[in-house]
Amino acid sequence: MCPGEQLPAGRDRPRVVRRPSASVPGLLAFLAATLVAGACGDADLAPTPSPSTPTTVSFAQPAIVPPSLVTGLDTRVEESFGPGRVTFATLPVIPGAEAFTAEIQQAVDADFARFEADTAPADDPPYPELLVGWDLVAASPRVLGARLITTELGAAGDDGRVQTTWYDAEAGTALPSSALLADENAPELADRLRRAGAADPRIDADALEQQLAAGDFDALAFTSSGQLLVEFDQGAVAAEGLGPVALAVDPEGLLSVFGQSASLAATAPSDPALAPPPPTATTRPAVTADSDVDCSVQRCVALTFDDGPVAGTADLLDVLADKGVPATFFVVGSNAQAQPDLLARMVAEGHVVGNHTQDHPDLTKLDAEQVRDQIEQVNDTVAAATGVRPTLLRPPYGATSPTVADVAAAAGMAQVLWNVDPEDWKDRDSAVVQQRVLSSTDDGDIVLSHDIHETTREAYAAIIDGLVANGYTLVTVPQLLGEIEPGQVYRGR
Ligand code: ZN
Repeated sequence: MCPGEQLPAGRDRPRVVRRPSASVPGLLAFLAATLVAGACGDADLAPTPSPSTPTTVSFAQPAIVPPSLVTGLDTRVEESFGPGRVTFATLPVIPGAEAFTAEIQQAVDADFARFEADTAPADDPPYPELLVGWDLVAASPRVLGARLITTELGAAGDDGRVQTTWYDAEAGTALPSSALLADENAPELADRLRRAGAADPRIDADALEQQLAAGDFDALAFTSSGQLLVEFDQGAVAAEGLGPVALAVDPEGLLSVFGQSASLAATAPSDPALAPPPPTATTRPAVTADSDVDCSVQRCVALTFDDGPVAGTADLLDVLADKGVPATFFVVGSNAQAQPDLLARMVAEGHVVGNHTQDHPDLTKLDAEQVRDQIEQVNDTVAAATGVRPTLLRPPYGATSPTVADVAAAAGMAQVLWNVDPEDWKDRDSAVVQQRVLSSTDDGDIVLSHDIHETTREAYAAIIDGLVANGYTLVTVPQLLGEIEPGQVYRGR
């Protein structure tokens, strides 16, 4: 939620308002709040009037650093599907800050292990689901900070956790949130949190007291105006329906020397430039134009790539350029925000960029507002980077519903599934992926793959050669389908 936006009062599952026209109630409320906070203005708590509802003030949000500020930043995606459970995690990978990445990876691994231990697989969809996303909350040549947001969407309802990992770039060491604090000031922090909690009727004083007694603050960050932000897991100090919540306090006298550097890196971020910049990708000439293709007479196949982009996607773009064939990329918003140059390159080279949602949730578990938010955030990111607004939606896991169809239709988007699946996420073996695609692809098919996997990227030179040798023309999804109807589901011809 943006600072200053409104929660209608008197609801047990409040609506989190991202912007005047879109709100995200319930399950992913805090996720949506997290991922849009970077778009907000400077004020931390300035209320703005809402035309239709009584107003309360939103919880404070951390300052978010645009990931594209950090030279060489890449994202790692870890996913699994089944049996009976699904997981999807993204995490930042910053070259030159290996201990930082390793610490974040460890936190994600712990989330996965806890989810597997605590969550029984389901026989039928919707499956219990674990989502892990991230924000950069500080960046400078001295300090990095990242916030991991973990959401479980299970049979027993949703659960949300947040934790923040810090990095001392000069020492090359990862640090917990507590490193921001000068130890002797912990009682003073508790007093300030008590006062901040008492001023907010949504905070349960007894629950807060328990958290203060435990004294284990693992999610410290800063607001854009430099207040120290203490975030609590869902249900820890406020109603479950509010998601993770935060209290902001004056940091005067509370911060360690590292904490003071961290505050600067949060409020006035700069490129840490910890590694030499990767070679600038040269944009290659656009491949096949629409006018060159007529799928009513040619045997057409559309290659599609999901879940990126990651830095390695550039290698796949090189292969596609070398072979002169276009593809369709269904991007995840959180990855797309970190790679605007790759999005621009895709469009410049004749590929189509479609929408694979902001956080990769099973959309059938969400209500219409949440689905809309998951879609529109990505459309905004892609439009800003490329000038082209996506018209194709690929729902994660291919899971769709009448609600998803309605929202897609209203957004002018068709739903694009697939009919060839080499299961490249499961078998990380280029030869296996190649064999499966070549043996099962036919005229009019849509092939699903994932550009986040190196084994997949490496398989595609040979796959393209094989398909072309078999007489297929490789096209984008719009070229394959021709006229498409918003809301409609397409799985190939
Ligand atoms: Zn996916």
